[in-house]
Amino acid sequence: MKNFKAILTPKGERWFRSGHPWIFEDDVLSLNDAENGEIAALYNPGNVFLGWGFYSRHSRISFRFITSNPEIPDQTYWLETLQKALERRKKFLDFNQACRIVFSEADGIPGLIADWYAGHLVVQTLIPGIDRILNELYNLFYELLKPYSILIRNDFEARSLERLPRENRALYGQVPEKVRIEEGPIQYEVDLWSGQKTGAYLDQKENRLHLVSYSQSQGRVLDCFCYTGGFALHLAGKSDEIIAVDDSASALELGRRNAELNGFDNIHFLKKNIFDYLKEADEQGLKFDLVILDPPPFARKKSDVASALRGYQELNRRALRCLNPGGILSTYSCSHNITESLFLEILSHSAPKAGGKILLLEKRMQAGDHPVVLTFPESLYLKGLIIQKA
Ligand code: SAH
Repeated sequence: MKNFKAILTPKGERWFRSGHPWIFEDDVLSLNDAENGEIAALYNPGNVFLGWGFYSRHSRISFRFITSNPEIPDQTYWLETLQKALERRKKFLDFNQACRIVFSEADGIPGLIADWYAGHLVVQTLIPGIDRILNELYNLFYELLKPYSILIRNDFEARSLERLPRENRALYGQVPEKVRIEEGPIQYEVDLWSGQKTGAYLDQKENRLHLVSYSQSQGRVLDCFCYTGGFALHLAGKSDEIIAVDDSASALELGRRNAELNGFDNIHFLKKNIFDYLKEADEQGLKFDLVILDPPPFARKKSDVASALRGYQELNRRALRCLNPGGILSTYSCSHNITESLFLEILSHSAPKAGGKILLLEKRMQAGDHPVVLTFPESLYLKGLIIQKA
């Protein structure tokens, strides 16, 4: 086997030893012969072996660290790594539910996402390294999980940065258009082929289940960025009325079907830009007892942070103003560039204009099947705050 070798700069080595799994192009001193997606051996400038990484020729992140084992990762390594990921999911994986079973760097397979949807597997590959070993991974998934089907959902934008084709295709079995999954007492359908992400926002599962404890039977709820019903479905049985707003017609259509599926007729789905909706609601003095704000990532890049801050501030300020006294705001940011302390700052800036004293009751994060690598801050991307207007 050819031995691709990369030597890191001293700064690159320090960064590597801090536990961060990404090696940027500026931190690579030399590289012999590596092909795009190949696994390369990483060395320090003194020729000491550091570990193995997937090479990405077209990305600013030249290498994604895999392991420091002396042997190059092979079929046995991938098998053991997948087995560990599944073991870690024992607490979360129930056949009829949905669960993330591989979360990239957190599970030791950088660039691979695999989500379980009641027996169907949806896979996303973010880097050329994973595309190259996809057949091996496919065999292992099949052996370990015996899924009904495996779908590759590679139609997302980030693949273009790696100059990889964007396509969806069934790798195995009949992939149904919709799959029905259970989430606590709720059932909902997921569009595997064209829903957002791999079909559903699994990272919010625990927060959806948890928020029910704040609902009141007489309460009015506003679910902003509701997608296919997410939070609204969980709250409908324990609230009087829910307004669920999103600007995606297809998400709302599925949301209506999901409400019907669970027998709810008190969720009013509305197609509207949230910024417009909240502005009007604020100006008209509409009031709610519980407001959820679960926007898409406003700051995908560091350069987006300033405009993202303005966006988060406007949303949160208006949402707080729409709360009745005693009301709850359940607010999230899934931008990894917005840290928890920055998010708290955004809320404290919004508080004086809220028309009441604002209390932080709880901090929340992504579900446990999306584990965080403590030396990789980007992996803690979903931050949540539960706030009360006293
Ligand atoms: N809370 C949902 C997930 C929300 S994801 C759940 O638990 O399942 C973010 C949603 O915001 C997507 O459905 C997207 O269609 C919607 N969206 C993005 N920008 C929007 C905007 N400006 N106005 C309204 N909806 C928006």
